[in-house]
Amino acid sequence: MSLLRSWVETANDPMCPFPMNNLPFGVFSTAGIAPRCCTAIGDRVLDLGAMERGGLLKRMGFTEPALNSFMEKGPEAWEAIRATLFGYLGEGSPSAGMIEPYLHPMDSVRLHLPFRVAEYTDFYAGRQHAFNVGTMFRGPENALPPNWLHIPIGYNGRASTIVVSGTDIHRPVGQTKAPDADVPGFGPCKRLDIELEMGAVVGQPSTMGAPVSVAEADAMIFGYVLLNDWSARDIQAWEYQPLGPFQAKAFATSISPWVVTKAALEPFRRSTPPREVPLLPYLEEPGSMLYDIDLSVTIGPDGAKNPTTISRTNYREMYYSAAQQLAHHASSGCAMRVGDLLGSGTISGPEKDSYGSLLELTWGGKEPLTLGDGTTRTFIEDGDRLTLQGEARGDGYRIGFGDCTGRVLPAPDFP
Ligand code: CA
Repeated sequence: MSLLRSWVETANDPMCPFPMNNLPFGVFSTAGIAPRCCTAIGDRVLDLGAMERGGLLKRMGFTEPALNSFMEKGPEAWEAIRATLFGYLGEGSPSAGMIEPYLHPMDSVRLHLPFRVAEYTDFYAGRQHAFNVGTMFRGPENALPPNWLHIPIGYNGRASTIVVSGTDIHRPVGQTKAPDADVPGFGPCKRLDIELEMGAVVGQPSTMGAPVSVAEADAMIFGYVLLNDWSARDIQAWEYQPLGPFQAKAFATSISPWVVTKAALEPFRRSTPPREVPLLPYLEEPGSMLYDIDLSVTIGPDGAKNPTTISRTNYREMYYSAAQQLAHHASSGCAMRVGDLLGSGTISGPEKDSYGSLLELTWGGKEPLTLGDGTTRTFIEDGDRLTLQGEARGDGYRIGFGDCTGRVLPAPDFP
């Protein structure tokens, strides 16, 4: 696959995250336009809601302030719209003059949460992350829980606090107990962290009582976003047994503004790493279902000219794919809904500078990171801005997601 050229010139720049190969879906507004669906092409946003209203696109629900209705239409509709947009936007298209008025400069619009998040489930499916965290808490011999190589471990998270990139996050408040303290206390989190993840967006439902195969699960996924699973490590350490994370994860999860479709990522499909023990048949991957997506994290005081890159890794490091996670999720008969969001789990590579959380990068806070401005960090300080970036690199083009960024504000006053 090489660059698909567009008459929107900026989309043909090999460094542009939004060439015609990408065409991610999002929701935008301007001073005069209420939120509705759009795609990105070059440095422009294309108003799909207005195009639908103008009869240039079939009725897909693009006039709505969320992608859910479009996702509900299913894979054939997703493909048909992509083909229609290629026709409208391709170099030499006779439609260029007709489409031009529907373009807005990207820096003049506001991007919103791209879909109504039905429910949110977060997994723990990165081998290196699970090993690192397990080593810190239980030692390297017992790092992986006995079920880890057999089952994609997950927990049901909160959809209510999923926010789009750019939303400020208040430092959470909660109950903690220091190891040497006799009794717990209550106050602002002291060990605030990120988790670098990808989110899979479920675009087709499953029926209660009806499991799906891994291949069917892959077909149900509409696309992918970058996801920051903000984590309060001190709250988590005290609350997590025996039911897993609760308030430590419930206060905020940030996602990137663009849902990058499976179609755009198709050339970057990769298989999961070799199995260390065979999986049960219902979890076996019938094809390549991970993707080669370079990921990075930066941290810096808000407004810093040069935030410091603290991690570089790749989505192909995961042990389980989103399709395997989705098949496992539905395996009991759990119904999956359009707009469900599945967090991959923290994506940590094998090297120390490829870890996807501060917990791992600073090894539990014992090895502070030195930032570009000379200051050090163990965990996140008030005013810090954390940004996740991701891109798949093709032959002369790249597929970007838009930044997934958030600034940490001081803890709220507690009544
Ligand atoms: Ca997580």
